[in-house]
Amino acid sequence: MLVLKNIVKKFNEVKVLNNINVEFNGGINFILGPSGSGKSTLLKLISGIDNEFEGEIFFKGESLKSYSKSQLDSYYYNSVGFIWQNFQLLNHLSVKDNVKLVLELSNLSEDEKNKQVKIILNRLGIIKLANSKVAKLSGGEKQRVAIARALVKNPEIIIADEPTGALDSKSSQVIMSILRKIAKEKLVIVVTHDKSLVDNESNSFLLKDGRIEAIFKSTTDKVANIKKSVMRPKLSLRSAVSQGFKNFKGLGIKFVLTSLILVMSSYFLLLNFSGSIVNEQQGILDKLISEKGDKLRDIIVPTNVISAGGTGGDNSSSGGNVDIKQDVSSLIDKYMNDPRIEHFIVGQPVGEMNISIDGIKNNYKVENSNNYPSMEKLVYGAMPKQNKREVALPKLLIENLKLKPEDVVGKKISIKGSEYDWASGQPVQKKVVIDNLTIVGIIDSTLKYDDANGGYSSFEAEDSFIYSMEVVKEVKKQLNSSTTNLTFDMRVKEVKDIMPIVEELNKAGITPMGQFESVKDILKISNTTSEQSSSIAGIIAIVAIVVTLVVALINAYLRKSEYAILKINGYSNKGLFELSIVEYLLTSLLSIIIFIVASPAINNFSNKLFKVSASGAESIKIGIFIILVQGIIMGIISSLISSNIKVKNNLSTGDR
Ligand code: ADP
Ligand code: MG
Repeated sequence: MLVLKNIVKKFNEVKVLNNINVEFNGGINFILGPSGSGKSTLLKLISGIDNEFEGEIFFKGESLKSYSKSQLDSYYYNSVGFIWQNFQLLNHLSVKDNVKLVLELSNLSEDEKNKQVKIILNRLGIIKLANSKVAKLSGGEKQRVAIARALVKNPEIIIADEPTGALDSKSSQVIMSILRKIAKEKLVIVVTHDKSLVDNESNSFLLKDGRIEAIFKSTTDKVANIKKSVMRPKLSLRSAVSQGFKNFKGLGIKFVLTSLILVMSSYFLLLNFSGSIVNEQQGILDKLISEKGDKLRDIIVPTNVISAGGTGGDNSSSGGNVDIKQDVSSLIDKYMNDPRIEHFIVGQPVGEMNISIDGIKNNYKVENSNNYPSMEKLVYGAMPKQNKREVALPKLLIENLKLKPEDVVGKKISIKGSEYDWASGQPVQKKVVIDNLTIVGIIDSTLKYDDANGGYSSFEAEDSFIYSMEVVKEVKKQLNSSTTNLTFDMRVKEVKDIMPIVEELNKAGITPMGQFESVKDILKISNTTSEQSSSIAGIIAIVAIVVTLVVALINAYLRKSEYAILKINGYSNKGLFELSIVEYLLTSLLSIIIFIVASPAINNFSNKLFKVSASGAESIKIGIFIILVQGIIMGIISSLISSNIKVKNNLSTGDR
């Protein structure tokens, strides 16, 4: 069945096997020889694990060297049952699962696999141990599990490397009697340096100085049965999942720790993705802005500006200032509906007002402040729409009328007054009447200013009416004036848009008024802090990813011998890849559960410690996504390592 011709095997130019010629057909064949004589090396060649050698090995007449990679895999899986030195079992799995993992590569049904495992465990007298963890077994029991695993796929050749080397003499006898039974129908090759195992029924050979010689030839020449059907070993997805679950259960603590680390690292990444770290800096900006008040965002575009230094730089005298007129009428239309603008107020065209509010108040004389309409903020309702006949009234007015905002908003108001001349600061006697305007909002007209004593003073006006453009145009029509050159005031939604608008106005030859120096300072502070926070965020992200990668690497390295054991049981790189991915998906799943359950606590903790957190349904979704992506990357790393594992470097062979 197996013929070796002129086999030479070298390690680093040293010939370990030097022209081996031998033939095995059936029964037990002992290979004796001192430690280091090359017995294990020879077995690896015979089994197809190592195919780098000179000479030929013929199996049923065909040279192993003529086999393709998959034929070699198939030969190893179908025809060779290898009983390794030191058992090479997976300690975290049960007896049953250690044997079954070979059949996971077959196309047998689940029931059939379980049945085969049961039959073999029965035959070897270890059925009672089926559910025990291998770690708890005695040496003799472990060796029987290893034999069961080699036998379960029903191969033609059983190869045993020092099967009794680690056993006491009683266990040795049990194992040898099992092997003798097996040898009735299979070719069994047993390597040992224990001559006492040899009997007169068996062939024996001596391996010495790289050569082999027959020292005893059995008279009853047995020939092994030939196996009929062969399979391509392949891990199905279903088997990968069930195998993954078993590992998950068997290696519980490792997986739980990995899951915890995955949750933590993903949470840090989530803080980055959700922008919490950068938002924290946005908070600083918001605080600076709110300290300055909403008026910080106002740009006033006046029809005349007082400019210092008209005559020869004598700024101390008021005579040195020049009054420059600006035509801003075209800009009103331009900025009225600009999306960057929160609200837009046009200078009040009416003075000496007498108002009537529908069914509430008749002919109330509004106190004249001779002040430009001022707006701190909207306190109720809405601002007038520019294309509607709408008005917003100052809070002070309705307080003086002993009314509440909800009493007046929605009501109609009629206004009688006279044209107000901003140049002289006096009403001129041209009469204006505006009927049936809708009151849409109430504003706070408080105007804060630096007083002469270096403190702050404030002033609230009763006549600070905010009209829509529609109303302003109506008034202008009554006055027979075609120009709408009126001072206007706009509040910009976002601080970052203020300076660009100022620039636009400057380009148009207009000098606006506002707290532009403060705006520039705040933007400068905000930019530096946001730069700092982005680099902090970057560092945190890198650390989080590195932690994940390192954990995946450590896990894979710790499990190298486990992967090697799977490989010697016929698992291909593809199978190991699937297994790694399944395992890390399970890890991700556990992480996701931990993340969802612990999310409130984690956020709370993070808030206390770093003043940032990522809560809410959206964050949970992103968090789950990050965990999955990281889990898959970990799976890929693990599979890359497992597929690069060299079996011969990662199995402990105890005889050296
Ligand atoms: P045995 O099983 O008879 O004790 P081995 O087949 O394990 O001996 O080893 C035979 C010789 O080959 C020893 O000298 C050993 O050091 C050497 N050897 C075995 N495997 C390797 C290897 N992978 N690389 C280099 N030398 C090796
Ligand atoms: Mg050996």
